Amino acid sequence: MNTTTAADQHWRLSALCAQTDPEAFFPERGSSPAAAKKVCAACPVQAACRAEAARFGDVMGVWSGTTENERKRARRASAPICPGCGREFTRTSPTAKYCGDLCRQAARNATKTASQNRRTGTSPRRAA
Ligand code: SF4
Ligand SMILES: [Zn+2]
Repeated sequence: MNTTTAADQHWRLSALCAQTDPEAFFPERGSSPAAAKKVCAACPVQAACRAEAARFGDVMGVWSGTTENERKRARRASAPICPGCGREFTRTSPTAKYCGDLCRQAARNATKTASQNRRTGTSPRRAA
């Protein structure tokens, strides 16, 4: 469901990119995004533009002074979500997947139980 209203999009009326060469905001591979970034630096609606780009995730081109690759890198560097408890956590190593020992252990136990069930032919779905 799209809950975007006309009021949410009002900021677009002040977007400087709408008044300049749109090609600059979609630089060819290997060409510089500098011209677009310069326009963004002077744009009065950078914050709304950044929020819109974050809301849609993988948007193409330069938004709020950032390229697609720069936004991807920033997303990867942002706080990860622990799949065990669903909370943000700070990585203690570059490969840390869980927030701590409790969630890691719980995930291990769940995997162990699932593989035991597979081996013994016990399925929680069948038992229900
Ligand atoms: S900040 Fe966003 S709205 Fe403003 S010029 Fe850059 S891309 Fe356009
Ligand atoms: Zn956790």
